Amino acid sequence: MDLFDKCRNFTIVKDIKAAGIFPYFHRVESGQNPVVVSEGKRMIMMGSNNYLGLATDQRLKNAAIYATQKYGTGCVGSRFLNGTLDIHEKLEKELAVFIGKPAVLVFSTGMFANLGTISSLVGKNDYVITDKYDHASIIDGCRLSYGKMVRFKHNDMKDLEEVLKSLPEAAGKLVVVDGVFSMEGDIAPLDKMVPLVHRYGAKIMVDDAHGIGVLGNHGRGTCDYFGQTSEVDLIMGTFSKSFASLGGFIAGDEEVVHYIKHNARALIFSAAPSPANVAPVLKALEIMRRSDRRRKKLLLRADYMRNKLQKIGFDTGLSTTPIIPVVVGDDWTAFKMWRLLYDRGVFTTPVVSPAVPPGRALIRVSMMATHTKRHIDKACRAFAEAGDVLGVIKIEGALKKKRRGHWRRAVNVWMKHLWKLSRYRQPAS
Ligand code: PMP
Repeated sequence: MDLFDKCRNFTIVKDIKAAGIFPYFHRVESGQNPVVVSEGKRMIMMGSNNYLGLATDQRLKNAAIYATQKYGTGCVGSRFLNGTLDIHEKLEKELAVFIGKPAVLVFSTGMFANLGTISSLVGKNDYVITDKYDHASIIDGCRLSYGKMVRFKHNDMKDLEEVLKSLPEAAGKLVVVDGVFSMEGDIAPLDKMVPLVHRYGAKIMVDDAHGIGVLGNHGRGTCDYFGQTSEVDLIMGTFSKSFASLGGFIAGDEEVVHYIKHNARALIFSAAPSPANVAPVLKALEIMRRSDRRRKKLLLRADYMRNKLQKIGFDTGLSTTPIIPVVVGDDWTAFKMWRLLYDRGVFTTPVVSPAVPPGRALIRVSMMATHTKRHIDKACRAFAEAGDVLGVIKIEGALKKKRRGHWRRAVNVWMKHLWKLSRYRQPAS
């Protein structure tokens, strides 16, 4: 057997590309604004994690430029050796205060924060317990550890209790969940989960990649939203979403963070995040601390979009956050839906199995504070048309509205015309 046979036999991507509905790796040739240029065409971006709209903010860009001038383009080494800069430590101190935990450790990515934290803490005789919808980086962290991995049904506290009951009382146990689930946009019920986990002597870690910047006071995240910051043992975050940069962190008690710092292979054996990545995070943090306005606007825009999609007749699951799943059914329908939206100038990302259960493929919409109502209205018109073509919405209501819309627009044009004529005829005073 030739090792590369699997590569020669890997034809699925070519087949989907030949059908013209391959939705991944499409080029973006501009900044991640609400309107981007993708493969030469202007499109409304509804698929980025730039929740607060800071990715093209001039203040963050200036911070990156200044840091590059001062420190150069890279750290050329691991944080363990030569790569720890004063701005890494400054960021750790400021994040600890913001999140509300005694200590923080900064990694090169959020993925590395999960890999390094879980694999260093969960040893041979320990258990790591995950929600079935947890992010891939959590799963990979569990795989890298020497412990045993057990899963429970998504957000199902009864099932979690069954799992905890079934494990040896004396064993070390870590429950890891997303704060906001990355595909469906629903929230882990930490108010119920945290006391339950602690009742069974386990620790809890929350991956708040999509919660920080979005939920809680000034964007302090899902734990703050539930008033559980001091009860949750470890809080993980990433800089690749609301902070509009690259990197990740783990927050917790001094001694736990100290242990991770000196044992996490993903930290010790990989280069430190570059100055141009770290400095914009400090600036984003300053902006978030100073004002909660962007976050509030983001939530309003997300509600506006979600309500419109629901009125059209789409199933948007249980999301209450800026991640809005538009459930369409099977994987091929999701690919076709993506194509129809792309052709209508809306950039989205389809999510298919195994990231979601088979038959629950969805278009993942993610909102930015900088989207305007016009962007949303335009995107929703494209969604209504695409959903109508594919038969994935209750189209009667939508079509009636569309027709009513046509009439309203026609009447408006006539009214404007008549008004202009009447002004034209008025004698000059
Ligand atoms: N956790 C979750 C829930 C995520 O969605 C992501 C990124 N998609 C990560 C961790 C990894 O973060 P990063 O992009 O910083 O590697």
